[in-house]
Amino acid sequence: MILKVQVNRHMQKAINSLLRFLRRSEIPHILRIQTTVIKAINDFMFSRNFIQLLPILTSKFTDPLGPDPNSSIQYIPKIKYNGFELCLTQSMILHKQLALASGLKKIFIMSPNIRLENSSRRRSGRHLFEFTQMDFEVAYASMFDIMNLVEDLLIHILWKVNHLNREDLESLNRDLRMPRKPFDIYTSHELIETYGEDWEDKASQDHREPFWVICHKREFYDKEDENNPGHYKNYDLIYPEGFGEALSGGEREYQYERLVKRMKDDGLNLNLYKEYLLIAKEGLLVPSAGGGLGIERLIRFITGAKHIGDIRLFRRVPGEDVIF
Ligand code: AMP
Ligand code: MG
Repeated sequence: MILKVQVNRHMQKAINSLLRFLRRSEIPHILRIQTTVIKAINDFMFSRNFIQLLPILTSKFTDPLGPDPNSSIQYIPKIKYNGFELCLTQSMILHKQLALASGLKKIFIMSPNIRLENSSRRRSGRHLFEFTQMDFEVAYASMFDIMNLVEDLLIHILWKVNHLNREDLESLNRDLRMPRKPFDIYTSHELIETYGEDWEDKASQDHREPFWVICHKREFYDKEDENNPGHYKNYDLIYPEGFGEALSGGEREYQYERLVKRMKDDGLNLNLYKEYLLIAKEGLLVPSAGGGLGIERLIRFITGAKHIGDIRLFRRVPGEDVIF
């Protein structure tokens, strides 16, 4: 029996507005570019002998994301399951360190993150509350090894898109410049002096090529420079033209006493990280460095989209309604 649904004018209007979300004319161009980007990332990482891990979405602990002055999450979402309370992944940083403790040397993960950002982030143009990072970590690497690797990776991705998606870029009216190595490096202190505390937007707008900003005071796992306390061996990659932060990373704290000190300084509940700390106490965490490259921000930059939500078929923008 065929059930005939009477579509009245009111319903038709609602359906049309839903279809507008699914049928935006830019979407096929953006998703073709995204496909090229994901393949380029995988090919590049495999060519550098990285092992790909699958992501985890639940754990007893996750990245606390703080006290990073740029973090604005409302709370860490948790689910109850079989008597356990499990956090949803905010980032896999601590699991990357544990993965290297298993003896692996170079790893990467396409890692979905849930971060319940404050609604005010809706206007930043670069925040989602559900996004994906290409999260990677290399045992015994220095910050400069990683910065060099990321420059090669970004150039590889942009070169591929410029060659394989010319028509898509033209349809989106986007002229994609190829950056040159080495990218400029600034300290966060220099940029604060020039632009003030909220340097990210202004510095990004003032540049035509991506650049590095090193030395940020943030989460306990980013390594403090032992020869220069109060300074940190970490880095952000910033896109030009106002697109802002692309990647954050750093050399990591891995020694038990240092981790405990940094966690206590941050006022964290050490009991939550019990198993991680036991592995550290056994001396099983190895020195490493790595980073996380936001995929949606990369696609926004490449396509020149006004808002990061615009590159998603299913938008997840803080403060906005979720349609599908
Ligand atoms: P983080 O370690 O917190 O800097 O995150 C790593 C990367 O993920 C950042 O450099 C961004 O590219 C991306 N990212 C972080 N938070 C968000 C967000 N709320 N929405 C979209 N991308 C994000
Ligand atoms: Mg960051």
